[in-house]
Amino acid sequence: MIELRNVSKTYPNGTKGLDGINLKIEKGEFVAIVGLSGAGKSTLLRSMNRLHDITEGDILIDGNSITQAAGKELRTIRRDIGMIFQSFNLVKRSSVLRNVLAGRVGYHSTLRTLFGAFPNEDVELAFQALDRVNIVEKAYARADELSGGQQQRVAIARVLAQEAKIVLADEPVASLDPLTTKQVMDDLKRINQELDITTIVNLHFIDLAREYATRIIGLRAGQVVFDGPVSEATDER
Ligand code: ADP
Ligand code: ADP
Repeated sequence: MIELRNVSKTYPNGTKGLDGINLKIEKGEFVAIVGLSGAGKSTLLRSMNRLHDITEGDILIDGNSITQAAGKELRTIRRDIGMIFQSFNLVKRSSVLRNVLAGRVGYHSTLRTLFGAFPNEDVELAFQALDRVNIVEKAYARADELSGGQQQRVAIARVLAQEAKIVLADEPVASLDPLTTKQVMDDLKRINQELDITTIVNLHFIDLAREYATRIIGLRAGQVVFDGPVSEATDER
């Protein structure tokens, strides 16, 4: 489903974010990427959706190179990839519903979405998505009226409305308290299991990785230093 072939990313200032990464992630996996601050977790995730270009190697999504893709082909590949960020990245002054509908943007012409006219099927899909993360009663609330945990669940609903096959979550719980962390991680795990969504989560804490992931990838200085099932992950990193 996702394959990285000898991927390196050097930033314009010369910093090496990723250094020769080879990885294969299969459909339906729940992968935790762990490592200290600066290890390259965020660079890795951003590369998979081509939020930035890599400087060496190739990344294949379902067999298609996102590295080579441009225009319509790139948009089509990206439609399958949902992103979740530490800071939620919602439009704060918009309604929850509208934020979830943003997941549908890739399915329509730019002009149509500019005017915010989504078909009824999209609105139905958005409500189903909100229902799945148990937040449907907040559909008409303004996004910034919600708690952090609720906002992150809206971001998950947006990915569901997008009908993404892959979810990339960059430290999704880093700004949340323990209880809310559990709710958000439970939601991610549930959509992974129920909808077979391939899930890759950057996590700062190995404990969470152990509790939720089926596979742990450890990064250090832009290189993979551990890759295996949770049972083999020790505390020594
Ligand atoms: P992590 O997500 O594990 O904290 P990052 O992927 O953010 O790590 O960073 C990996 C390395 O790349 C670090 O050395 C970091 O300082 C560097 N880096 C990240 N973003 C940039 C950038 N925009 N410009 C230059 N260096 C960067
Ligand atoms: P109200 O008009 O009372 O706010 P609506 O149900 O019309 O209630 O809309 C609530 C939010 O959802 C608004 O931000 C609205 O623009 C958005 N919304 C509702 N239906 C659609 C739709 N079909 N396409 C795009 N946005 C919609």
